[in-house]
Amino acid sequence: MVLEKLSDSLKNTLQKIAGSLFVDEKLINELIKDIQKALLQSDVNVKLVFELTEKIKQRALKEESPKGLTKKEHIVNIVYGELTNFLGKEQRKIEITEKPFKIMLVGLFGSGKTTTAGKLAKYFMKRGFKVALLGLDIHRPAAMDQVKQVGEQINVPVYTNKEIKNAVTIYKIYESEYKKYDVLIIDTAGRDALSEDLIEEIEEVSKAIEPNESLLVISADIGQAAQKQAEQFHKSCGITGVVITKMDGTARGGGALTACAVSGAPIKFIGVGEKVDDMEQFNPPGFVGRLLGMGDLEALLEKAKESMQMTEEEAEDLGKRFLKGEFNLIDLYEQMQAMKSMGSLSKIAEMIPGFGQLKLPKEMLDVQEGKLEKWRYAMDSFTKEELEDPDIVDANRIERIAKGSGVSSGEVRELLKQYRQSKKLVKMFKGSKGDISKFMKKFGGKLPMGM
Ligand code: GDP
Ligand code: MG
Repeated sequence: MVLEKLSDSLKNTLQKIAGSLFVDEKLINELIKDIQKALLQSDVNVKLVFELTEKIKQRALKEESPKGLTKKEHIVNIVYGELTNFLGKEQRKIEITEKPFKIMLVGLFGSGKTTTAGKLAKYFMKRGFKVALLGLDIHRPAAMDQVKQVGEQINVPVYTNKEIKNAVTIYKIYESEYKKYDVLIIDTAGRDALSEDLIEEIEEVSKAIEPNESLLVISADIGQAAQKQAEQFHKSCGITGVVITKMDGTARGGGALTACAVSGAPIKFIGVGEKVDDMEQFNPPGFVGRLLGMGDLEALLEKAKESMQMTEEEAEDLGKRFLKGEFNLIDLYEQMQAMKSMGSLSKIAEMIPGFGQLKLPKEMLDVQEGKLEKWRYAMDSFTKEELEDPDIVDANRIERIAKGSGVSSGEVRELLKQYRQSKKLVKMFKGSKGDISKFMKKFGGKLPMGM
């Protein structure tokens, strides 16, 4: 995951609390020092670190734990809550409110604008929007080719023109085309620094285009210097949000994230790799939850939604049933197939509250393609009643199903075992609905990270 080091130190810190016999001032002071150290190491601004930890400390010392929570759990909740506030509190989504919805990307050289343009195009395409790219980087000769390539890779039309050396002119040439699209993503030119020249160009382009969103693209490797950059761009170009790229490649990402959060410019996406799918919507509660090892069911559902191309309602429904522990064999199969197309199952498991810490049997996470296929065959031989309530399948039926489907009876049994295991785990979510304190209760008052 991104910020792995920070995550490890924060997890260790919380483990320490867990392992202690009782919570006293000395322990809280230790916790505060640990958190400070962890944040400073990921380049978070000193002043910000002290403000944050002071808040945590005061709350930890003064607040009574709410009913049903132990002191330890309450402290973990305080850390979670304050870190979430620190990173912007809640998710700031981009709502496509008109057609064409214009998203303009601005930023310095090499910050990742063109790459992000492709990622955003794919992101909105997956959500069913018709998308086009517009390449207005007139300063770098190779830029137009790059944006063309990006478009080809994801099958999105690209409007650009190598002959013309004025961004507004290029925009105007294709103006009649844009209404064909729901979303128009506009890649612009950068500079080495926020020069007069760049400000002027962005202003001129903004005036002509009137973008619905102006996103500043910042590379995480500049760490806390991101604050100044975000403030400057905000002042001179009126940005509506930030995309922080290269979160995968730097230990300074914590600095960049927190710096942007305090600049007042909402972080909308983070880039976590060079590939076109390596981008996440930025969601502070989920992000901090993962950082602290608490999981992020929302992110999971979001991914499931994309890869299964379900409608929003279906995803919500599946999520709800999943949470309630009311799912049957067909759901399990679909769930697994969805996970399969999302990538490594263990990576996914990390995002589900508790799964990451539960030390699941390895075979449960390693469902191979071949196995899924066999299960599908076997399931074809189940009756509808059996699919809905696999517990009624007895030894006799297992043999018959095996014969009928050409799958070995061992494999049918394995499928049933997998179902029961998953059902058991899912039951643990019942009622917790992502609420951390409730969820912690599910572990018999123990925290998911073994507290
Ligand atoms: P631009 O000059 O702002 O358009 O930047 P580019 O989009 O051309 O990106 C500059 C370099 O950063 C390229 O090599 C990209 O592959 C790389 N890059 C962009 N975003 C990310 C990211 O999220 N993670 C990593 N590791 N590399 C990225
Ligand atoms: Mg570029």
